[in-house]
Amino acid sequence: MLNHTSLPVMERTALRINPAKTCQPIGAMYAALGIHRCLPYSHGSQGCCSYHRSHLTRHFKEPVMAATSSFTEGACVFGGQPNLLQGLRTVFATYDPDVVAVHTTCLSETIGDDIPQIVGEARRQDIIPEGKFVIHANTPSYVGSHIIGFSNMCQAMAKYFVEPSNGRRYHPDPKRINIVPGFVDPSDMREIRRLAEATGLKPVLFPDTSGVMDAPQTGEHVFYPEGGTTIEELQTMFRGAATFALGFWASREAAVEVETRAGVPREVLDLPIGLAATDRYLDTLRFRGGVITPELEHERGRLVDLICDVQQHFYGRKVAIFGDPDHVLALAEFCRDIGLIPVHLLTGTPGKRFTKEATRLLGPTVASAINIRQEGDLFLLHQWIKEEPVDLLLGNTYGKFIARAEDIPFVRVGWPILDRAGHSLLPTVGYMGAIRLVSRMLDALLDRRDRDAPDHEFELVL
Ligand code: SF4
Repeated sequence: MLNHTSLPVMERTALRINPAKTCQPIGAMYAALGIHRCLPYSHGSQGCCSYHRSHLTRHFKEPVMAATSSFTEGACVFGGQPNLLQGLRTVFATYDPDVVAVHTTCLSETIGDDIPQIVGEARRQDIIPEGKFVIHANTPSYVGSHIIGFSNMCQAMAKYFVEPSNGRRYHPDPKRINIVPGFVDPSDMREIRRLAEATGLKPVLFPDTSGVMDAPQTGEHVFYPEGGTTIEELQTMFRGAATFALGFWASREAAVEVETRAGVPREVLDLPIGLAATDRYLDTLRFRGGVITPELEHERGRLVDLICDVQQHFYGRKVAIFGDPDHVLALAEFCRDIGLIPVHLLTGTPGKRFTKEATRLLGPTVASAINIRQEGDLFLLHQWIKEEPVDLLLGNTYGKFIARAEDIPFVRVGWPILDRAGHSLLPTVGYMGAIRLVSRMLDALLDRRDRDAPDHEFELVL
């Protein structure tokens, strides 16, 4: 496998080989699942919807409910309005969602379907029942990535639900903080909320897939699980003292939208992965009136203690990291902080800001000496690794092919992880997530050492 990855590296502009991203609607679908009693709706062909659902299911090991306009040749020629109208009629009659979140696909974008106009027509025809909502996001897959699709749907939530204040600022609840958590697992969303609540603040996450994509097994099928941000929570975003966007790519636009509509100030933070980023998250909560409790300090202390205990195994080892931009940057900073040397950073999501942010986090000296690439692919990453080998690879499941070809210890982190289970139930963010990350990276390095050790160096004790 991957026998044909060759050197030297040549600049390519019109060819992607093994992209390090997937298409926008997947992100939009995942975001929509984070609204309580929301049914994601794919305006396009059945194949797109099936792919997006199955890809999410393979990561979360949960069924993903979504409807589709089910385009055929007729819709391709004449437009998808009749399909969407019929689809909405069927969805409300059969599944009774409170919200239908429509996202477009390559095909409907190419046709040029005007979703607000079609939804307006649905209202005129009384297809949308009283008190129900249809929101939409444009998610053409020939630009951006699943992260941009996620961001677009989060922005749509703010656009449709947050009431405009017309330049006035409502009296905020000083304890309420709106948080856009980014494209992270449900366990991460739960942990982000737990940390904020531990400071005494009242966080409202949007979207919030905890309790939806990790709903407990009770023996009974529940079409709309208990989790998810409620419509009331979305409509009262104006009460927040601030909106935190965790991750520039996945979350910023939604926070900007809340600020524009309701005057709630935004704070764009890094994903709280690792020691320093979690410190910054909690410090920003503290600035907003949160209290850092002894329990939180002890949690942090346990992470610092673990890092001190094992730093000799990380020091000076080279690491390559790929995946979604907010994840890659946060992981790179954490790796640097525990002694690893990030040498290759790659994301498939476009945006020149990736290099700028890497420079901010790692410093100009380090950033200028390593490979950093936005809108890259896994072929390029493999070439880089062939040129400058690494001791550890961090990324999603697709990295396993490079890891096998180059015999590199590999830690699965980010999205999607298709070939393992249980990962989405345990957080990567926060101090506890960082402890788990250190432990997993150490396991990978020590398993390799054990595998390769001659008998006289095969140690029983760390
Ligand atoms: S890339 Fe476009 S056509 Fe392909 S699955 Fe995604 S939305 Fe559908």
